[in-house]
Amino acid sequence: MALLALALAAVAPAQALPPPAPMFTLHRVAPSVWAAIAGPRSKAGANAGFVVGRRAILVVDTFENVQAAQQLLAAIRGISSLPIRYVVNTHYHIDHVAGNGLFAAAGATIMAQTNVRRWARTDNLKFFGPNPTAAQRAWVAGITLPDITYDQGVNIYLGGIMAEVRDRPGHTGGDSVVTIPAANVVFTGDMLWNHMLPNLIDASTAPLIATLDGFLCDHPRAVFIPGHGEVAHAADVKAMRDFLAVLRADVGRAERAGKTGAALTDAVMAELKPVYGDWGLWSYFAPRDIAWTAEELRGTKPLPH
Ligand SMILES: [Zn+2]
Repeated sequence: MALLALALAAVAPAQALPPPAPMFTLHRVAPSVWAAIAGPRSKAGANAGFVVGRRAILVVDTFENVQAAQQLLAAIRGISSLPIRYVVNTHYHIDHVAGNGLFAAAGATIMAQTNVRRWARTDNLKFFGPNPTAAQRAWVAGITLPDITYDQGVNIYLGGIMAEVRDRPGHTGGDSVVTIPAANVVFTGDMLWNHMLPNLIDASTAPLIATLDGFLCDHPRAVFIPGHGEVAHAADVKAMRDFLAVLRADVGRAERAGKTGAALTDAVMAELKPVYGDWGLWSYFAPRDIAWTAEELRGTKPLPH
């Protein structure tokens, strides 16, 4: 393939090879803050974003693959030539960390909550099923780990604008929320999926609801950059919070009625579908979220540790 590309370039440069389609859409949500929103089936895998200060740039999350990260780096370079000094990973899931190496090579220091470094090269293997291929193992083993870790958080000063990074519970047990107070913008990581069913594989839904309630209490008029889905506001945070509360209530009721397995899943799917059936990823995550929540309520859910 590379040889073919070289041959084509030799006979018909530039216009013969169109640039790859963008894997995300850039939104300038505040004068210094950009959201990179991945399309529904984009190989970027998740959202990212960046903050441009007077002295330095902070990137939040680095997508699922290097090609998407390269596009993000190019997009940033189209806006500013300041050093990209910091990357924060909101959590360890591969769709938020796989481009770390590209930004590290560009000079950035990768930062994350302590558990991200602990889990990134091990627990990400589970997303490839019981028998990952050699390429999938290499992909996970090659994730560039954070250089600096913290337990509770850190403040990052970029010159004229500051990012507050704080550990919050809910999505994995090693999640950071990045708030830009001067811009009233909150990068939520996967604590928020905007009108999409969330991946609850590692989630603890009661603390997650408390985290979302905290967003609504502390930032009622903020712009929220979710881990997945479009740029969001308080009503979207409330919608996800209410989904989780309804999911827990419906699963608990079905369990108390003695339902298990497929019967429990069918009963709860029927309850949820009239309200949530048109949310993104419904077919994929509804049965899984029900099963994971049943395990969580029974106290048998395996979590990263
Ligand atoms: Zn995630």
